[in-house]
Amino acid sequence: MKKNKYENLTLKQKSGWKLITDKEKELIENFSKDYIKFLNTAKTEREVVNYIKNEAEKNNFKELKNFNKLKPGDKIFAINREKNIVLAIIGKNIENGLNIICSHIDSPRLDLKQNPLYEDTELAYFKTHYYGGIKKYHWLNIPLAIHGKIVKIDNSIVEINIGENEDDPIFVIPDLLPHLSGKLKEKKVEEAFPAENLNILIGGIPINDDEIEKDAVKIFILKLLNEKYKITEADFNSSEIEIVPALKAKELGIDRSFIAGYGQDDRVTAFALLKAILEVESPERTSLALFIDKEEIGSEGNSSVQSKFFEIFLADVIEKLKGEYNEKILKETLFKSFGISADVDAGYDPNYKDVFDPRNTAKMGYGVIFTKYTGHGGKYSANDANAEYVGKLRSLFTENNVIFQFGEIGKVDEGGGGTIAKYLANYGMEIIDCGPPILGMHSPYEIVSKFDLFQTFKGYKIFLQKMN
Ligand code: MN
Ligand code: MN
Repeated sequence: MKKNKYENLTLKQKSGWKLITDKEKELIENFSKDYIKFLNTAKTEREVVNYIKNEAEKNNFKELKNFNKLKPGDKIFAINREKNIVLAIIGKNIENGLNIICSHIDSPRLDLKQNPLYEDTELAYFKTHYYGGIKKYHWLNIPLAIHGKIVKIDNSIVEINIGENEDDPIFVIPDLLPHLSGKLKEKKVEEAFPAENLNILIGGIPINDDEIEKDAVKIFILKLLNEKYKITEADFNSSEIEIVPALKAKELGIDRSFIAGYGQDDRVTAFALLKAILEVESPERTSLALFIDKEEIGSEGNSSVQSKFFEIFLADVIEKLKGEYNEKILKETLFKSFGISADVDAGYDPNYKDVFDPRNTAKMGYGVIFTKYTGHGGKYSANDANAEYVGKLRSLFTENNVIFQFGEIGKVDEGGGGTIAKYLANYGMEIIDCGPPILGMHSPYEIVSKFDLFQTFKGYKIFLQKMN
């Protein structure tokens, strides 16, 4: 096509698939295969921490507590309560700031209540309490798996994982049949699916004992649980049991352009970030990858980004580099840092054109997104990245052939959402949201483009290695 003389004045964007070489396509495919394996291995925050720890150790990262002194080039990690992990590679002059990327590893799900087990009409159920922003009806009549941990009264630990292996049973929350849904269909969605109906069917055989007249199915379940795990009903009081879809992540599409799977918000950025920091070599500035919990419920609690874990980690790093703790250096280091809040954003969905601004919502396959600001309405509760910082990032990504786009979640008055960016911004660091677009966000089976996944990895790696 002939170029017109104003060609260079307009912003040009096209599908990333048109921009890449065969070699990069092959890299994308290999990366996607590893990613699908990861999605099928680690579905909860504890499992992700464990996965990252193993990968870090394989790649010569060592736990910070094993060091008396640190020097540039050292690769370290630390874990907070099995729910956060931080990896770092020490650079030169830490007081000039870090290059930090923070991703969250919790995803929307159903948690078991602390007294979950009951029987009604000879059917046994677990009661749940949903975690994060879900559409409740998504969780009806899909296969569910049980992941978690029970701490018994003697403090011994029982790990539970049922529903992932080929011959494991799965669990289901049965929906009401359409034949009897006449009245239900007239209700608003929020009223039609009350949280107290999200009860998971777990059994239907009464115990074979004539003395037991009441709750015979529940008692049989308790007997089976006691035989297998040596637990009693009271042990659920001190448990954290998460119900997640028992669905395997898969390639999606005739052309296999997408990956569908549970919990890609935000295991997609967590995986890209892990792969990125594992490939960073002797960075000028200290590289830091932080994987946190509780983002989906507003970043509250001692495993969230608002806990002091990351600050204490950094204080320890500074002490082991400088020989003494110095609060001024800690604060200056944070203030001069460059940050990325690694998080997904909405992809433009042509089936719901009404809620998106087509000029400002990201497109699938158009690369990793910079979301300059998050929040809702008039930018309430937003982190709004400074233009100077955004300019630096545009240069860095462009120079290094990372394909990116700018996006915000949807139309201004339609809603919005927050991320961890604003909490890290409180330290005074420059920070922006950056991650791939996603379709069906917060559903049990979210969709990401393989192309965007790979650009996310490339962007994070360049940022950690080179941002200056
Ligand atoms: Mn989310
Ligand atoms: Mn997220």
